[in-house]
Amino acid sequence: MSIAENLRSIKKEIPESVTLVAVSKTKPVSDILEAYHSGHKIFGENKVQEMVQKWEEMPKDIQWHMIGHVQRNKVKYMAEFVSLIHGVDSIKLLSEIDKQAKKHNRVIPCLLQVHIAEEDTKFGFDADEITDLIHHPEYKKLQNISVQGLMGMATFTDDMEQVRREFRTLNRLFRELKNTLPQIAILSMGMSGDYTVAIEEGSTMVRIGSSIFGKRNYK
Ligand SMILES: *Cc1c(COP(=O)(O)O)cnc(C)c1O
Repeated sequence: MSIAENLRSIKKEIPESVTLVAVSKTKPVSDILEAYHSGHKIFGENKVQEMVQKWEEMPKDIQWHMIGHVQRNKVKYMAEFVSLIHGVDSIKLLSEIDKQAKKHNRVIPCLLQVHIAEEDTKFGFDADEITDLIHHPEYKKLQNISVQGLMGMATFTDDMEQVRREFRTLNRLFRELKNTLPQIAILSMGMSGDYTVAIEEGSTMVRIGSSIFGKRNYK
């Protein structure tokens, strides 16, 4: 199937209330343009440099989401245009995003990445660290970031019950956090292999790459 056909069939499957981020990392501009011309405008990249290059070359009404791990010294390159940063995993990173956003006189929407995988190789906060963060004196000073929700990645496994458990944990944390941060509305969870389960467990935003663009040769 073509990229446009893949997109169409995925959009038919997911509820309208769930936002689809088409993960275009490693894929050429020509592939992204095919998706764009079929009407899709939200793309996710996991490397700042690659996202900046694509942003420069492509139509300016595309919303670029940074879904990967972000190094602090790279924030300045994307601060002008990034629509949502999914992978915020420290107060230091959040402060740097705030500082760079200020230079462009804008507020950058962010998600806090939560470590939900039972395997322990992924980045992110745990529940206690999120509580610490939002009560941190530094956090309260940040005027140019807006925390809009949480992001998580489940363990890479065929055991869908484990994946479900991990997504359920993230949703529980999301609902608890809403008591303190009532503005949060985005729960970013679900990829090609697990987005159906993620949506059943309350995802509001899925990040889908290979089911749209085909397999990648490298991550
Ligand atoms: C690559 C990536 C995705 C998409 O993965 P697929 O399995 O190709 O859908 C989603 N989220 C993050 C954080 C990624 O790095």
